[in-house]
Amino acid sequence: QNQGLGSWIHRQRVKSGSKTALIFRDERTSYAELDERINRLAAVLRANGVEHGTRVAFLGDNHPAFLETFFAAGSLGAVFVPLNTRLAPPEIQYALQDSGSLILVNTLALDELAVRGARGTAVALRLLVDDGTGTAAFDPGELPVKPYEASLESASGGFPDAAVSLEDGAIILYTSGTTGQPKGACLTHANLAWNCFNVLVDYDVAGDDVALMISPLFHVASLDMGVLPNLLKGAAVILETRFEPGRTLELIEKYQATFISGVPTTYQLLCEHPDWAKRDISSLRKLTCGGSAVPLRVIDAYEERGLGFSNGYGMTETAPGATALPPKWSREKAGSAGLPHFFTSVRIAHPNGTLAAPGEVGEVQISGPNVIKAYWNRPEATESSFTDGTWFRSGDMGYFDDDGFLFISDRLKDMIISGGENIYPAEVEQIISELEAVSGVAVIGVPDAKWGEVPKAVITLRDGFTLEPAEVQTHLDGRLARYKIPKSVVVVEDLPRTASGKIRKKDLRSEYAG
Ligand code: ATP
Ligand code: MG
Repeated sequence: QNQGLGSWIHRQRVKSGSKTALIFRDERTSYAELDERINRLAAVLRANGVEHGTRVAFLGDNHPAFLETFFAAGSLGAVFVPLNTRLAPPEIQYALQDSGSLILVNTLALDELAVRGARGTAVALRLLVDDGTGTAAFDPGELPVKPYEASLESASGGFPDAAVSLEDGAIILYTSGTTGQPKGACLTHANLAWNCFNVLVDYDVAGDDVALMISPLFHVASLDMGVLPNLLKGAAVILETRFEPGRTLELIEKYQATFISGVPTTYQLLCEHPDWAKRDISSLRKLTCGGSAVPLRVIDAYEERGLGFSNGYGMTETAPGATALPPKWSREKAGSAGLPHFFTSVRIAHPNGTLAAPGEVGEVQISGPNVIKAYWNRPEATESSFTDGTWFRSGDMGYFDDDGFLFISDRLKDMIISGGENIYPAEVEQIISELEAVSGVAVIGVPDAKWGEVPKAVITLRDGFTLEPAEVQTHLDGRLARYKIPKSVVVVEDLPRTASGKIRKKDLRSEYAG
């Protein structure tokens, strides 16, 4: 009996067989067709040695094959390993090796990266998805490769007979690596399912939703906050290969999309695009955002068009939702990451283990059925990430206000200590990002002989704007304590970012350490 997510499309077929499950490049796939393709792929995987517990990796930008591989692996009790397409070959190699993946499904566009990354790993076979990019196949070397589509066509069989429990591993997802080496978070079927239930309850996902997925599926936020809850309700999911703001606005209008999800940068690029005012996007009902703090002027841009914006907080290890701010609170509780999701608990603890009172900053800790039980192959990281049994230590600092709304101060690792005072860069960045000229900002601590560390602001500008460093300091003057105001401000072309758009402060700190 399959209790896992791998059976969801098959189960959904009974209720929604003829409904559209996926839209990709204007082509529709019904739930029945998707089920058929997943079953065929499961037969291919099984014939090539995949069984319960085997790891199956995927490397590619958003494509139906991503979801087919996820569900087919799950239908066999195998573990899906989505890889970040912006990684370098040694990083791909690390993830393939660390996960011990047996099969790698990759798109033609990323063939060279896949071949280089698979070298010297346990990968025994690649399945190549022709995504129509026209890229010439890279010399595959020794590793056997089979065409994905032709393999599916020649396979047959119904939904596979495999025993899968909710407690089995469904996915190994590597964290963003913002603070160090990415860690493989092993999410069970139960973890993913409970996050879906949180989304269904807190965002009211319905069968007539049209979800436009523009963020990379290899992040758990896209997959588990967007795709899975919508498919669970029998809604339609549009997949975009890569995010392009103008095209996204066009697609919202064309398909009357009701649901989108993204990171703050996604939303910022949309509302700053020249087509923003031209397109009818009034169909949007659910705008979910997470991953880092959202500049308030971005939220304003959506509210001005009557679109309620929901900022959420979470992490790979919580599959990923921990809290979300319902749109009706977005003014009154501006800057808050919201309330704990329905089935999830959040608390704030001091370093000595006592719980913080409202208003007191401490570490954000999370418990609930969506929280991982362990990292993959990392007993020490698992051990040090939990406290009091089930409480996951997020590494983020924050506080609850008197009404129970969570505010994230910043990551513990990014906190600056200047002359004995704690500075949370996010607070300073939020105010700097109000300046119209600023498109991106990172405040970091740099060594200082007198104060130990002092804050420094590294800024990127919007096209056509200029900014004098002194303007930044003037803007902050009187709004923040003196010690929090950056002693130096530098304008750069680009900020180093992770594939999820987060600023790599570790890199900035070493760059400006001298
Ligand atoms: P690594 O753990 O490898 O260093 P990472 O923590 O960036 O990388 P993710 O799991 O993708 O990997 O990101 C989770 C983190 O993102 C959270 O711990 C938090 O620091 C930050 N974050 C997520 N949502 C928000 C939000 N709404 N506001 C502020 N920070 C957020
Ligand atoms: Mg993390």
